[in-house]
Amino acid sequence: MDDCIFCKIINRELPSTVVYEDDRVMAFKDINPEAPVHVLIVPKEHIKDLNDVDSGSAGYIVDIHMAAKKIAQKLGIAESGYRLINNCGEDGGQTVFHIHYHLVGGRKLSTKIL
Ligand code: 5GP
Ligand code: ZN
Repeated sequence: MDDCIFCKIINRELPSTVVYEDDRVMAFKDINPEAPVHVLIVPKEHIKDLNDVDSGSAGYIVDIHMAAKKIAQKLGIAESGYRLINNCGEDGGQTVFHIHYHLVGGRKLSTKIL
């Protein structure tokens, strides 16, 4: 996608601080962190949101979870705990329409969902 900022980050056309990468997914620090650890994990394929995931691309969701586990270990928050969040669509708070999961931790997070 030509005008997608996360595709540009994946293609190194925009800078980011990459914390994890493999052939399927990439993870980089959120530009506006809301916790001591705030990483965005994205598939290397442009998929708009969770509604756009189908049986052919569903494996990315597993890949993202496995990457989250590895990143949490690498960044030292695996034992203290963390949260993995997907915002879908406008009411869900999604602002960048390339599916991504927020990995947040490094402090005690609110137990409130909303
Ligand atoms: P959403 O609200 O779509 O779930 O989350 C989008 C996230 O992307 C936000 O937390 C925002 O701070 C982050 N973000 C937006 N633009 C950029 C960027 O250019 N680089 C990085 N690293 N993060 C970005
Ligand atoms: Zn994209």
